[in-house]
Amino acid sequence: ASRPFHPDDTRIEIRGHVVGGPEPTLIAGPCSVETREGLLEIARAIKRSGAHMLRGGAFKPRSSPYSFQGLGEEGLKYLADAREETGLAIVSEVMEPGLVPLVAEYVDVLQIGARNMQNFPLLKAVGRTGKPVLLKRGFSNTIEEWLMSAEYIMAEGNPNVILCERGIRTFETYTRNTLDLNAVPVVKHLSHLPVLVDPSHGVGHARYVTDMARAGIAAGAHGAIVEVHKDPTQAWSDGNQTITLEEFDQLAHQVRAIHQLM
Ligand code: PEP
Ligand code: MN
Repeated sequence: ASRPFHPDDTRIEIRGHVVGGPEPTLIAGPCSVETREGLLEIARAIKRSGAHMLRGGAFKPRSSPYSFQGLGEEGLKYLADAREETGLAIVSEVMEPGLVPLVAEYVDVLQIGARNMQNFPLLKAVGRTGKPVLLKRGFSNTIEEWLMSAEYIMAEGNPNVILCERGIRTFETYTRNTLDLNAVPVVKHLSHLPVLVDPSHGVGHARYVTDMARAGIAAGAHGAIVEVHKDPTQAWSDGNQTITLEEFDQLAHQVRAIHQLM
């Protein structure tokens, strides 16, 4: 993952959009895939706003075992339906090595969640698929550890790794995490891999998400992934940090405007 081994920036083409290319990458969607109709409605709206990919968890890493755990394969089917209708690429998390073949069958991008950033058997398994991987930074991991995790995927022969800064744990309590914007220029210096920011998990409150998406782009991120819902108050997970479809439309405009200045 380090620059001396690969001086040119990595560009990853996914359904006609190039991550790390001239346009900032915009990924949006609900935290969890919920109903088929609800997902299609979100997909149509974000497509109109210029998003390139639809996100949505079908297998959810919830802190409590009693919280909604995701729809599983049914959710992946809804995502595939949304791709079919809108042309958006789809991104979804895979939590265990045994499920990699199933999830890889449906998605364009395999998401490795923060909690699994150092699940080495899982990293090797997604590496073997050759599919693009969105590698979230663990909330208690250093940049060095994060890049080593990218290395695990690449060592299996898969160069298609997209880094994602999603906030780290600090002493601060007004925000869920602290979006580590320092990490953006640091990984761009150390690595040729593209890097996105996730301001939704990074701050944990919808009212700050757009500000931090803009800040991430200004820091040099190649794009942003955000949680979006038609009615965030009704979201089955992470509603507090989820923005509306209208707010996403504004965010997309602002991200593109800032990216143009870079
Ligand atoms: C998510 O994207 O909904 C998610 C669970 O993210 P993270 O792994 O960054 O907490
Ligand atoms: Mn979430």
